[in-house]
Amino acid sequence: MSNPSLLILPGDGIGPEVMAEVRRIIDWFGDKRGLAFDVSEDLVGGAAYDAHGAPLSDETMARAQDADAVLLGAVGGPKYDTLDFSVKPERGLLRLRKEMDLFANLRPAQCFDALADFSSLKKDVVAGLDIMIVRELTSGVYFGEPRGIIEEGNERVGINTQRYTESEIERVARSAFELAMKRGKKLCSMEKANVMESGVLWREVVTRVGQDYPEVELSHMYADAGAMQLTRWPKQFDVIVTDNLFGDLLSDLAAMLTGSLGMLPSASLGAPMANGRPKALYEPVHGSAPDIAGQGKANPIACILSFAMALRYSFDQGGEAARLEKAVETVLAQGHRTADLLGEEGRAPISTSQMGDAVLEALDASL
Ligand code: NAD
Repeated sequence: MSNPSLLILPGDGIGPEVMAEVRRIIDWFGDKRGLAFDVSEDLVGGAAYDAHGAPLSDETMARAQDADAVLLGAVGGPKYDTLDFSVKPERGLLRLRKEMDLFANLRPAQCFDALADFSSLKKDVVAGLDIMIVRELTSGVYFGEPRGIIEEGNERVGINTQRYTESEIERVARSAFELAMKRGKKLCSMEKANVMESGVLWREVVTRVGQDYPEVELSHMYADAGAMQLTRWPKQFDVIVTDNLFGDLLSDLAAMLTGSLGMLPSASLGAPMANGRPKALYEPVHGSAPDIAGQGKANPIACILSFAMALRYSFDQGGEAARLEKAVETVLAQGHRTADLLGEEGRAPISTSQMGDAVLEALDASL
């Protein structure tokens, strides 16, 4: 049987820097655990625009469709800010998500004990935090039509449309209920049913799907109240399901609970392929961080933990995923810190590759 295939798209800015560390970890699993992947690499975002004039070529799109999983670094950068919207680096990522039909974005927010002091919230509020935000990813206001900037009278009007079909809400709700069943059996759905019709429909459909999951305790919250509750007492949540826009904001908020964007992985899953594996794209939550790109300062852990999610959700290697997550926990407990994890402390940070070294050492020690 051939090895499972993994398409790597490092992208722009710190993307290639953090991905270089993940490549070493992938190799480690091949050498030490007999977990070999057919790894190939391609361009996305600004790097693809520079090479092909488009942020994702048709060839790369086809390779992504064929891969057992795709691992992406980050896209974007100031160099591309003035490009037409249709060829901006982010469009490459949106195309991947849309054409692979990755409708469920899983964003765990887990607070490693060693970093609890680093959060801007009190230690007892975040220590031991383990929540999962499921964000709808292929619809809503980022895709809805009509959209654009039109002339109206003597001024311009910017238009975007929030739009959700029942089936779009149902499938992401089902993913969230399934996850809740494997976790703490609590699901909180967030929308703005008080002011948005799409929110009214969202609440109705989630409630209906919930009838198939009587063991899951379902609650509903307005997304703005949800933001407050996430900072007040985040441990009240287990799984949160929400739409594309609110999920974008709430998951960044959750990122800060755990200390740094540099710690947060994500998975975007679609329908199962012929081999039973879900279509899947794994990527850190952070962007290309142009402010630190090229300086060896980036924290590779979010990207490393994204690969751990790939091991768990695409390759049925939950034990090896846990080994990698444990290695990260060990490294943090030992006090290794990239700059983003130091805040005002006077200590010298370690570099991106030194963090990779430390994780590899912890992996060796796990054998
Ligand atoms: P960003 O996530 O790139 O950076 C926000 C802040 O967090 C910066 O100060 C950055 O230095 C820091 N940071 C992010 N990741 C880090 C890491 N791994 N280690 C240490 N520090 C880290 O968000 P931004 O500055 O708003 O956006 C920069 C570019 O990235 C833009 O072009 C944006 O469109 C793009 N972007 C891409 C994605 C993606 O590829 N998925 C996501 C968000 C933003």
